[in-house]
Amino acid sequence: LAARPAPYLEGLNPAQRAAVETLEGPVLMLAGAGTGKTRALTTRIAHLLMLGKARPGQILAVTFTNKAAREMKNRITALLGETVEGMPWLGTFHSICVKILRRHAELIGNGELHLKPAFTILDTDDQIRLLKQLIQAENLDEKRWPARQLAHLIDGWKNRCLSPANLPRGEKAAFDGWGGQLYAAYQDRLLSLNAVDFGDLLMHCVTLFQAYPDVLKSWQERFRYILVDEYQDTNVAQYMWLRLLAQAHRNICCVGDDDQSIYGWRGAEVGNILRFEQDFPGAQVVRLEQNYRSTPQILSAASGLIAANSGRLGKTLWTESEAGEKVRLIGHWDSEAEARWIGEEIEAFQGGHRAGMDAVSLDDVAILVRASHQMRAFEDRFMTIGLPYRVIGGPRFYERAEIRDAMAYFRLVVSPSDDLAFERIVNTPKRGVGDKALKTIQAVARQHGVPLLEGARIAVEEGQLGGKGLANLRDFVASHGRWRADALDAEASHVELAERILDESGYTVMWQNDKSPDAPGRLDNLKELVKALEEFDNLQGFLEHVSLVMDRDNGEAGEEVSIMTLHGAKGLEFPVVFLPGWEDGLFPNQRAMDENGTKGLEEERRLAYVGITRAERLAVISFAGNRRLYGQWQSSMPSRFIDELPEDYIEVLTPPGLYGGGYGAAMAFAGANPGTDMHDRAAQADVYNSPGWKRMQARAAERKAPVARRAPVTIDAEAAAHFSVGDK
Ligand code: ATP
Ligand code: MG
Repeated sequence: LAARPAPYLEGLNPAQRAAVETLEGPVLMLAGAGTGKTRALTTRIAHLLMLGKARPGQILAVTFTNKAAREMKNRITALLGETVEGMPWLGTFHSICVKILRRHAELIGNGELHLKPAFTILDTDDQIRLLKQLIQAENLDEKRWPARQLAHLIDGWKNRCLSPANLPRGEKAAFDGWGGQLYAAYQDRLLSLNAVDFGDLLMHCVTLFQAYPDVLKSWQERFRYILVDEYQDTNVAQYMWLRLLAQAHRNICCVGDDDQSIYGWRGAEVGNILRFEQDFPGAQVVRLEQNYRSTPQILSAASGLIAANSGRLGKTLWTESEAGEKVRLIGHWDSEAEARWIGEEIEAFQGGHRAGMDAVSLDDVAILVRASHQMRAFEDRFMTIGLPYRVIGGPRFYERAEIRDAMAYFRLVVSPSDDLAFERIVNTPKRGVGDKALKTIQAVARQHGVPLLEGARIAVEEGQLGGKGLANLRDFVASHGRWRADALDAEASHVELAERILDESGYTVMWQNDKSPDAPGRLDNLKELVKALEEFDNLQGFLEHVSLVMDRDNGEAGEEVSIMTLHGAKGLEFPVVFLPGWEDGLFPNQRAMDENGTKGLEEERRLAYVGITRAERLAVISFAGNRRLYGQWQSSMPSRFIDELPEDYIEVLTPPGLYGGGYGAAMAFAGANPGTDMHDRAAQADVYNSPGWKRMQARAAERKAPVARRAPVTIDAEAAAHFSVGDK
């Protein structure tokens, strides 16, 4: 190699170069957001290859997502061109464990059965179905002891590498004393199916390494260099796996940021990163302090916020990049107004009409939400105004299972001949209408030439059905008749009807009884759905709207705004980032605080830090004064995180648009008259004659979009006082 550094090293700062060039022995790169950890890690791989320290197949690099792995591969190819043949082992823990396990499947077993190399990997639905069968086989009450809860327990054990054999006695007694036994039965069942679940991938791999030293040795010899990104979010099983692989040669380089540890709720242990120097004595610790991603304003705001956490390692971050815009903060009337405003801002950015910003591409804009139910308002709004968007890392709102179920109920009420809707919900929640009953109904319907719902009515009347399902189905048909009558009654409120359908059908109760960790989120989504109905005149209009939203061509590849959760945004960066919903209870999330106290709050704060530090040029934080949570409108308080932001780096905006110039007056009026209906107040403040409101009407007419119908809302004095922050 020539004396001049290789071109791929030239752009790095000295600390990064040290991390890249210290090839032997343990290295920990512990540094804040945007300091080039991932970039240094990627360059290190290129460097290893260029120096011929290792062949591609001898390098193992672990990333947090498949997307990150793909990006790293692309970058390595870009750095090295076609000079090196083959690729390192580069992927998530799971994807790498699958490859290893396939080669040694036969060694995983229980004495009688063992895995075969072509084993299948179960998804969550399969996992739940299997557990359900096992719970039924023991005659346990499924309502009290739902499979989802057991799945959650088992995942937790697997994250800690606890197999049924080494489960502590106390934990065995979980799930009403059945935990250990059901877990063992589940593992046996998986083996007999030649299947594994996600948690097994790591646990089996660790078990394999521990039980077969020669196998471990062969992998230690193969992977001469190990690199791990986002190390702060590894769980116990992943940690054990890494230690086993690295303990012989100790050529392990981990990078991470304790301030970005956000997966504690899923078993990640930030302690893993803090303990690195003890685990690997003599480790070289590299700290990076220069941030290359964000403006000083964004960095200072984020640093100020995270300073409120205790027990941090603490770090200084600085940047050479030019001063930019302050972090913007704005309060809105409600979550719909927030979505409207963000939509308009994005259009303005796109057209280059915003101070301090050149025109931006939609690809440069991201909206990062705390909870997936927040996405609905944005999806609806963007659909209405024709703003292209994509939801990253999860189904779009209207594609979620619980939303599809609820919509199937609505569809069946609006059009009783919708057989697909009938099939989807006739036995959801469980009504004892199994495959056999459904076949009978189908036969009756065919015979009479009527839709399935009508077929069900006839089958019930003629006594063609028996068993537990008969009475339930009779109830269902009768309820449907009432719902349908209400739907046809122009006087009846379709919003109340929707709520009643979900209640009387037992659908809401089904999720209320479900103890799985995702059940509360699903209930929130259902409430969000009912809320969306308020914007329409009837169920039918709403269903049409949704089919339009859903009909959007997924294949189009133009510019799109990205919508994703804060958790999904880790490691990514965007020039413009919107951070909506900064309200106490939503963010910080109430459940996280209830379940984990201060620890929960601090994890939420780290999440806020991750959010702000995704922004390169502009971050816009917003909150709504009213949000419909748990079935009713509530006035919400701005997030306590907003108070923690250092004032010098924040610019408070006045909400324009809908309420135009009258907005402030209306707020002030409401502040002085707590508990009053805001729309009356708005009318008194002459909001509806304001230019903003008229502009809004004109635009809606132009696009032939339905004009939003607004719900009556009240606010209390305390919220109004906070609210006026946005009015200054
Ligand atoms: P996070 O903690 O968010 O994962 P990170 O520390 O991994 O951040 P990177 O994503 O690697 O940071 O880098 C942030 C941005 O800074 C990227 O756009 C990267 O290309 C750029 N960058 C990193 N190092 C340098 C450098 N030495 N010179 C110029 N730009 C750099
Ligand atoms: Mg990174």
